Amino acid sequence: MGTAVSRQYLEEVCVVCDERRAKGIHLYTSFICSECEEDMVRTDTRDPKYKYYIDRLKKITTPEIYS
Ligand SMILES: [Zn+2]
Repeated sequence: MGTAVSRQYLEEVCVVCDERRAKGIHLYTSFICSECEEDMVRTDTRDPKYKYYIDRLKKITTPEIYS
């Protein structure tokens, strides 16, 4: 039968869509799936959806350091 484990992809949870995806990029310690990444690139900066993406990314890029 073979091993089922060997066929599994290394999936990670995307910070934008909260879905488990195998393909994507890493930004700092977070993961963004390729679908969201492409979607972001296509989205116009005046589109409300763009702001949603930025808000999600802010959580990643803002270091949790309070002075
Ligand atoms: Zn995603």
